[in-house]
Formats: sequence, C-alpha cells, structure tokens
Amino acid sequence: MSESDSSKLPTEPLKFRVGCVGGGQLGRMMALEAPRLNIDMKFLDGGGGACPSAQVVGGASGDGEARIVKGALYDDDKLRELSNGCDVVTMEIEHVGVGGLAKLEKEGVNVQPSSRVIGIIQDKYAQKEYFSEHNIPLPPYVNLPSIEAIHSAAKQFGLPLMLKGRKGAYDGRGNAVLKDTTQEGISKALSDLSLKEDDLDGALYAEGWINFHCEVAVMVVRSTTGETRAYPATTAIQTDSICRVVLVPARNIPANIRHRCEEIAMKAIDSLGDGATGVFGVELFLAHKDGGGMDVLLNEVAPRPHNTGHYTQDACAVSQFENHLRAVCGLPLGDTNLIVGASAMINVLGAPTGGIEATMKSVNAAMAMPRSVVHWYGKGYRPGRKMGHINITADSHGELDASLAKLLGVEGISED
Ligand code: ATP
Ligand code: MG
Ligand code: MG
Repeated sequence: MSESDSSKLPTEPLKFRVGCVGGGQLGRMMALEAPRLNIDMKFLDGGGGACPSAQVVGGASGDGEARIVKGALYDDDKLRELSNGCDVVTMEIEHVGVGGLAKLEKEGVNVQPSSRVIGIIQDKYAQKEYFSEHNIPLPPYVNLPSIEAIHSAAKQFGLPLMLKGRKGAYDGRGNAVLKDTTQEGISKALSDLSLKEDDLDGALYAEGWINFHCEVAVMVVRSTTGETRAYPATTAIQTDSICRVVLVPARNIPANIRHRCEEIAMKAIDSLGDGATGVFGVELFLAHKDGGGMDVLLNEVAPRPHNTGHYTQDACAVSQFENHLRAVCGLPLGDTNLIVGASAMINVLGAPTGGIEATMKSVNAAMAMPRSVVHWYGKGYRPGRKMGHINITADSHGELDASLAKLLGVEGISED
C-alpha cells in the first residue's frame, strides 16, 4: 500500500450511523454485521407485518433515537425522518422514492448509492437503455408504449416474447410470457401484469426470449473512490422466476467465461459512475452462440446485497453485507475471494403444501449436518415466501454435491 493510500485510512474506529430504506431480510443481515464495525443502524420499514430488521436492532440507539421508522418508502417526510442523525442513507430495496432521496441529497444528506443511480436501476427499461449506451451486452429489448408496439416486437423478436413491467418488479412478478399475439393472449398477459391496454406508455417493455444455457450472478462492490471488486461468478438456479439454489464457483462453465462474467458485471457497475457505491447484484444469462462459443448477456442489476450473494456470509472472509456497509461508509473494501473450495446456498421457501412442518424438512436436515448454516429471516410462514436460507461450504464440488443431495433429496450435481 502506498503512503498516499495509507494516509486515507481511518486513524480510529469509526462510529457511524447508517439509515437503511427498507426493513426486510437484507437489512436484517446488514444489521447483524454492523455492530462489529461500530456501525449503528436505523431503518425505514414499509411493511405491515413483522419487520425482520427491527427484530435484530432493538428499539432505540444509545442517544434514544428510534431505530425503526414506520412509513412508506416513497414518502419524502419519512425518508427525511430516517436520515435524521445518520451519516449515510442506503437501501436494501430499489423500489423507493427517488425524488425524496434527491431532495435529501440537495439538503446535504449523504445517500449511497445515489438517487441518480437508483433512478436508472429501478426503471428496468431505463436501466437497459443506460447499459446499452455503455456497451454492455444485453438481450434484445424494446419499449412498448402501445398494443401496436407489442405486435411489432413479436414480429421483430419472435415468440415467446418476454413482457416486463418497467417498475416495481421482483421474483418475476412484473413479467409475463407472451406465447401468441391473439387478442386474448395479449389481454391475458396485460391483466397478469395489472396493466390496462390504453395505459402502457411508460409502464411496459419487451425482451426477446433468451434460450439460456444457465443463469449466472456476480456480486460487485464499488467504493466511493470508484474501486470495484467482484465476488466469484455463481450459477443461479431459478424455478418459476425465484432463485432456489446458488452454486459457487459457477458450474460447467469454462474459467474464461466465468471471468468474462465477472468483467462484464464490474464494467456495468463502473459504467454507472459517481454514486454507484455499495454492493450490486448483477444477473447474467449465458447463451450458446449459433456458430459456437457463448454470449454473456446482462439481465438486470440490483443496487444492494442480493439473494445470490448470501453464500458470502459463510464462504468469504468479508460478506456482501459487510462489504456494502464498508463501501457506503467510505471504509476500505474487504476481500471478495472464496475462502473454501466450493459453496452453495439453498433458499428456504414456504412449502407449497404441508405448511411450516414441510418447510422445516431441509432446515432440520441442515441443522444436523457439518458445514451447513441456517439463516432465518423472522418472517411468518406463507407458501412460496422466502423465509430463510441455508449456506453450505465444502473443500470440493464433490463434497458439496453430497451435502446438497441430502438437503434437496436429489442426485448430486455433476462435477466440473
Ligand atoms: P428479481 O427478483 O431478480 O428482481 P425480476 O422480477 O426483476 O426478478 P427478472 O430478473 O427480469 O425478474 O426475470 C426473472 C427470471 O425470468 C429470470 O431470472 C429468468 O429466469 C427469466 N427471464 C427474464 N428475462 C428473460 C428473457 N429475456 N428470456 C428468458 N428468460 C427470462
Ligand atoms: Mg428485478
Ligand atoms: Mg432478476
């Protein structure tokens, strides 16, 4: 480290207060890391039910300031209330009031990532436009301001066509697969998206269908000074648009393609420029090219810790949650390498039938296994709900697959 670098390092432990917009499980996992770093956390929670973050931070800080503010994430006054007494405001969800955050910035509040960056990312079409302008490889996409535009997109890209709501999407809610362009087919897709035919402008866009080989996710962390690091590329296995299992290092993918995924992910986040601070989840598609070889295409970016980065809690020296806090507080970034041979994360989703007893099957099995760790979110049972996750670490893919097979009740995943 050069002398000029070391002169920027803190000369005493920081005492920081971080305000986080959103009080879900991602905030909770940040809050679990924060006290080790002398960071005190405060949350704006928009949920009506149990707040996963509130369960781990307690009611008030040492100076009596409330740690939980209840209110809508789009309410300017609530955002201001959150920011009171905070050194920095960050978020664990991108569906937040960008206008309110921009006002805070004007008033001198340190918002990381910035309102400009959140504004680009939270509108999935604007995000595509931005990355296209910055030469990031993308699936073909087009804006859909009208029904006629849906017909021409189907002609241009073919069927099936992926229709996506521009804002508010998560877990595939906000996506509809258009299989035919009959009036019924289009009406059904729009009603699935709760959109009206004469009100599509600004609400909808389309992507060409990608017949991908697999989905890859890369967590990237970027500091206030623009230093960017990637965690290793992972294989993200989704069913019904919800992430089920993450494998790291990514499987059955040549090392050069894995590195290309990491490079494209870092380039995308770097392209966002000033204010692209913190951890970002970058979702990618790997698609076979007609003439051989593979394309790496960016699906979307999340400006926060991400489900596909949970394995870092147990498989890396510095987790995505700690690195997010380090980045937004201006601390040096932590190491992003694996400290184990291989790792997997299994999401614990509320079982579709059989209630909480059925949901507990994999959790109870994990509790009895070496090198597997259960992380609960403190949320009540609901079918399909993300209730927690299990991280497994191992010395090799073979050892990992044996543990995974026990938890998933399936044959091992082929070794690469
Ligand atoms: P998240 O919870 O990750 O924010 P989301 O609701 O924003 O999800 P997307 O990531 O756009 O939704 O899509 C969800 C899933 O749908 C993807 O992970 C992928 O499996 C599938 N998918 C999305 N776009 C396409 C496409 N163009 N072609 C084929 N499959 C796609
Ligand atoms: Mg999304
Ligand atoms: Mg996604």
